[in-house]
Amino acid sequence: MITIRQVRLAAGAATITAGLLAANPFAQQPPPTAGAPPPSGAGGGRQGGRGGIQIQDGGECPPGTTEVRPRSCQAPGMTPPSIVDYRPKSTLVTPAHLKPKAKFPAIDFHGHPRSLVDSADGVGRLIASLDSLNVRMIIVAENLTGERLQRSIEVMKRTPHKDRVHMLAGIDLRDVGPGWAEKAVRQLEADLKAGAVGVGEISKSFGMSIMKADGTRLKIDDPDLDPVWEACARLNASVFIHTADPQPLFEPIDFKNERWLELALFDDRRYRDRVPPFEELMAERDRLFKKHPKTKFIAAHMGWHANDLGRLSRMLDAMPNVSIEVAAVLYDIGRQPRAAREFFIKYQDRILFGKDSFQPEEYPYYWRVFETADEYFDYYRGYHAFWKLYGLDLPDEVLKKLYYRNALKLAPRLPQAGWP
Ligand SMILES: [Zn+2]
Repeated sequence: MITIRQVRLAAGAATITAGLLAANPFAQQPPPTAGAPPPSGAGGGRQGGRGGIQIQDGGECPPGTTEVRPRSCQAPGMTPPSIVDYRPKSTLVTPAHLKPKAKFPAIDFHGHPRSLVDSADGVGRLIASLDSLNVRMIIVAENLTGERLQRSIEVMKRTPHKDRVHMLAGIDLRDVGPGWAEKAVRQLEADLKAGAVGVGEISKSFGMSIMKADGTRLKIDDPDLDPVWEACARLNASVFIHTADPQPLFEPIDFKNERWLELALFDDRRYRDRVPPFEELMAERDRLFKKHPKTKFIAAHMGWHANDLGRLSRMLDAMPNVSIEVAAVLYDIGRQPRAAREFFIKYQDRILFGKDSFQPEEYPYYWRVFETADEYFDYYRGYHAFWKLYGLDLPDEVLKKLYYRNALKLAPRLPQAGWP
């Protein structure tokens, strides 16, 4: 595993880039400790003759320096790279098992193939990509409803691939108020009749930015929505729901934030002070899940608790109607292979495969994490994870549930025959 020291070295290298510090309005670093005496004696941090800065026990090295000996901090003697340019090449030699195709046919429950499903030609290209990955089915989670949904279903029916691409029904959560629920339930019934296989993706804007007709924020557990969630239970339509975003995106943007680079790259993800706090959204979501025990919910992105599997276990134990999906949290699964393996085995009936953003070249990273015991390999996006991944080496029976069995169970409208 990558050590704290490695991370600290990388972070220390990043913090010193003067240009970055000057140009970065989000840096919230204390000024360097002034006037620290140079170290004396052996082991005092005198490396290459540059001296060091002494810190207290438990203290922190000033910006631009790193701890080279206990309590002794030193600045690099060469200009360090910025956070985006430091790309050390690992010298570790260890067996590698690349997995271009999934070991068993998979259902991608979190599909966003966008315009590929708007034409027969696009569907053909989508299917070619899925074939190369052994993804047998993709569930389009684009929150489509009404005419837009029907049009997509019609396009699919006219291709030879109608069993490969399925749609979830969206719910239009705008302007909730008197009379909204009756209309929404009628629309949901029509959408399911038209061929939708479940509900979703309820997007993260639910709770963060969608407003009610009266101008207040639509809370995730708003009682005005209850008839819709109850209808989902009655119609046996699972609800695929994405709530909030990774917790660090709600936190101060400083050099302690694991997602600093992502926050610097994408200004629309700087949530702090713009949307309700992470924990408020989680509390609303959990109250929703508990209030409707007969409704089956699938929390996208492992509910954003893949970094705290203890919390996620408690949540699943307390809410038997909830399942989870793995998209875009592979960096958290793959950095704790032992705990994650145990978790995936314990909750093997509650976890679904999904990928989110449709990038065919990224799926093999998932297969490698789930199927192999490979060690210390790269994740697919530099700004999510400053660490390497490890394989979970999951047993075949668990893989089959993760890849397709749990999806078939939670979406009984999907073709159930012909699976291994
Ligand atoms: Zn999504």
